[in-house]
Amino acid sequence: MSADPGVRRVTPLAHKLAERIRVHGPISVSEYMSACLWDEATGYYATRQAIGASGDFITAAEISQIFGEMLGLWTGVVWQQVLGGPQSITLVEYGPGRGTMMRDVLRAARVVPGFAQAVRVHLVEASQVLQSAQRDTLSQAGVPITWGHNLIGFPAPAIILANEFLDAWPVDQWVKTSDGWRQRGVGLDAGGKLTFCVRNMSETTGTLDRLYPQAAVGAVVESQRPERFAEALGALARSGPFAALIIDYGYATASAGDTLQAVREHKYEDPLASPGEADISAHVSFFELASVLHAGGLAIDGPITQAEFLGNLGIIERTSRLMHANPNRAGEIETGVARLLAPNGMGTRFKVIGVRAQGVPSLPGFAHAEA
Ligand code: SAH
Repeated sequence: MSADPGVRRVTPLAHKLAERIRVHGPISVSEYMSACLWDEATGYYATRQAIGASGDFITAAEISQIFGEMLGLWTGVVWQQVLGGPQSITLVEYGPGRGTMMRDVLRAARVVPGFAQAVRVHLVEASQVLQSAQRDTLSQAGVPITWGHNLIGFPAPAIILANEFLDAWPVDQWVKTSDGWRQRGVGLDAGGKLTFCVRNMSETTGTLDRLYPQAAVGAVVESQRPERFAEALGALARSGPFAALIIDYGYATASAGDTLQAVREHKYEDPLASPGEADISAHVSFFELASVLHAGGLAIDGPITQAEFLGNLGIIERTSRLMHANPNRAGEIETGVARLLAPNGMGTRFKVIGVRAQGVPSLPGFAHAEA
């Protein structure tokens, strides 16, 4: 799984970015990441079917149906007990991928009486390729579904689910130099190939000095600047009650250094190796995210690990019932769930937070870890 740092493939986007840098100078890491994911003609999500065994990476919902089912039961309980069973509820998913998780969520949530009649689904998806996959997967869902591109713009009360969505949120990076903190950028080396560089922009506020007083020269820190995300959820909270569940790989500290990563055909590679042809992402700082959401007037549950969260929801009991009912698939079911809970894998690398409008009671699944 190691990345070969020297490789630079001249993809169509690499060519386009090199032209841009030659004329305008180095771009920021977040500009690089946005172009890689969303450039209209050559961006990764804009053009590809990324997820699944034949794509570049696989996610929890694609590993085991139980993942989406647990979130479906959570959704049903939040609707009924936390929000008081309103007659109409918008169930939103940010970045639904192939629609697999939403299909499993809806199947499981149906057991809660009245939920299926109340629910309207709204999917926030920027990729046309994935939107059409979602239409196929959800063609039998039997509930109204709409699509949109914005984080808000649907009616409250709402329940929002987001798995592996925020890791695609572009990060900026700063590097400590002998002259203080500077923004890290993507420029060109003497041979005209993409390379990381230091941009001629200093961090003037001194925030980084205060946050990382011990940082050595060469240290890299990053920020997703989740303010826009917090503003959107803040605006939603002003329109009515909502609860959101955010799951992603990440850490609970302010920064964990350079976490920018690229994955192509299930292998890690250098983030500059194949612009537009690899999935590029960064680990989510749940500390930064929770602080910014909290400052925006929202209430937070967690973060806790995925293993704790799914454990609190009773995944072990549900798995053994499902194995019992499907003895032919028992091995496959057990392997999938073991992967979701793996102590040195997804179980701890993935963290979960709940976000809610003020006045909405704390969310199920976070019993021992309220912030
Ligand atoms: N949640 C899915 C897919 C994760 S991949 C799963 O767990 O399998 C990330 C998803 O988020 C893709 O569907 C991608 O197209 C979408 N996405 C990423 N950034 C987005 C943005 N800014 N706006 C809308 N959709 C976005």
